[in-house]
Amino acid sequence: MHRDERINAIDQWLPQTQCTQCSYPRCHDYAVAIADGDADINQCPPGGDITISGLAALTGQPIKPLNTAFGQHKEKHVAVINEDVCIGCVMCIKACPTDAILGSAKVMHTVIERDCTGCELCIEPCPVDCIDLLPHRQASADDWRWPDYSPESTERARQQTNQKLVREKLRKQAKSSMSKLKELRKEKGSDQIKSDIAAALARVKHKQND
Ligand code: SF4
Ligand code: SF4
Ligand code: SF4
Repeated sequence: MHRDERINAIDQWLPQTQCTQCSYPRCHDYAVAIADGDADINQCPPGGDITISGLAALTGQPIKPLNTAFGQHKEKHVAVINEDVCIGCVMCIKACPTDAILGSAKVMHTVIERDCTGCELCIEPCPVDCIDLLPHRQASADDWRWPDYSPESTERARQQTNQKLVREKLRKQAKSSMSKLKELRKEKGSDQIKSDIAAALARVKHKQND
């Protein structure tokens, strides 16, 4: 199997909570590390025995117990915000890898239960300690992936994470372009920049007419 195919096949066995307990920033990075032989197959507490069995079959390695140095397998939880206490600081939105929190600055926030993977990453940044993790209504320790973490829900978490990463990359690029423009303005002055842009546009137009 080609490396990319191997990574994708491994990633399919990971629960996509993006919780970082395996010591990688997201599930896909752990999949890359396993594919490259840099990580063991028993580092994912949310995936537990089901994920370890799947990875063992896929990689041809023996099944082994979860390495509890990375955390304990437990039943699925979802985050719930105490909306009476929330001050709308948006720290939890920034921390949430799957965009499962709705809200804006100075407005109380709420969790979209369907999109919450229970990763716990929003708990620590909340300055007023108003987020609790409650056991998911139907989940049990054995059904982390099946049927509760169905292929549809893991795929949705994967997509939401990827979309958030793309948005963050674009935001960073826009921020860096703005600061470059500010520096340029300081260096050259706005009028000089305007005339440089006008000259560049004229050159493009000239080329198009040729
Ligand atoms: S769900 Fe498993 S693979 Fe994904 S980040 Fe958490 S520990 Fe790592
Ligand atoms: S709401 Fe909190 S627990 Fe749920 S996915 Fe987002 S960061 Fe994780
Ligand atoms: S981090 Fe806490 S206080 Fe801030 S918006 Fe989220 S839930 Fe509200």
